[in-house]
Amino acid sequence: MSAAALKIESLGIRFGGLLALDEVSIDIAPRSIHAVIGPNGAGKSTLVNLVTGIYAPTTGRVILDGEVLTGLPTHRIAARGVARTFQNTELFTELSARENVLIGLHRHLGYGLLASTLRLPSFYRAERDAARRADELLALVGLEAQGGTAAGDLALGQQRRLELARALAVGPRLLLLDEPAAGLRAAEAEGLSSVLLRLRDELGLTLLLIDHVMRVVMGVSERITVLNYGRKLAEGTPEEVRRNPDVIAAYLGG
Ligand code: ADP
Ligand code: MG
Repeated sequence: MSAAALKIESLGIRFGGLLALDEVSIDIAPRSIHAVIGPNGAGKSTLVNLVTGIYAPTTGRVILDGEVLTGLPTHRIAARGVARTFQNTELFTELSARENVLIGLHRHLGYGLLASTLRLPSFYRAERDAARRADELLALVGLEAQGGTAAGDLALGQQRRLELARALAVGPRLLLLDEPAAGLRAAEAEGLSSVLLRLRDELGLTLLLIDHVMRVVMGVSERITVLNYGRKLAEGTPEEVRRNPDVIAAYLGG
């Protein structure tokens, strides 16, 4: 699949009296990491929900590699190569790390229930391929030694990387990450940063990264958009954003 260029055009959504996102436009270059930061309630998760089709916008549209995604159902958007992680982890804590990734793979491969029930040879072949792929994905996020560990027994930083592996199971071109570094200790945040860079540099993914952890955001992003009350407050390189007086006043402040 080609590298993914994401164009967000005048995207807006109203919830009753609240304009949660107000005609926001963002251009994201293929094979880049673009961060969206801003205070709580700024509209960051809403933006992810609009791109993935969970919400329908009041204004604007989302275009991936020239193809309009807006209006498509969520599964069709996913099939175009768009995957996400959630702000709160959604792992199966009782299942092993490998099983969590396998669930993502099975959903993606969707091979027939009939083949599985009848134990056809194609079922065993698919199972073997899926197991190999799961181990590759675990290695990619630095969890090669944790495949057999229950997800609930992993450290928070490892759980976040497991979520990445599961999101990667569907073979995305564009990955939307909603606060993957929240609550991580410095060393864990460092580990996450290097995985994000690998996803860009080795897999050629385009990443839309939402986070508050400035060390991660400033360290990995080519460009940053700052949202405030649903509006774009600033945009630029990490250096430009760091120096922007409006950003300092509204957000980085203090
Ligand atoms: P952020 O992720 O930047 O913290 P959100 O995108 O979650 O912010 O929320 C932006 C604003 O939209 C908030 O005021 C939130 O309460 C509101 N909001 C988000 N989703 C809904 C919804 N489904 N219904 C009503 N209001 C919502
Ligand atoms: Mg949020």
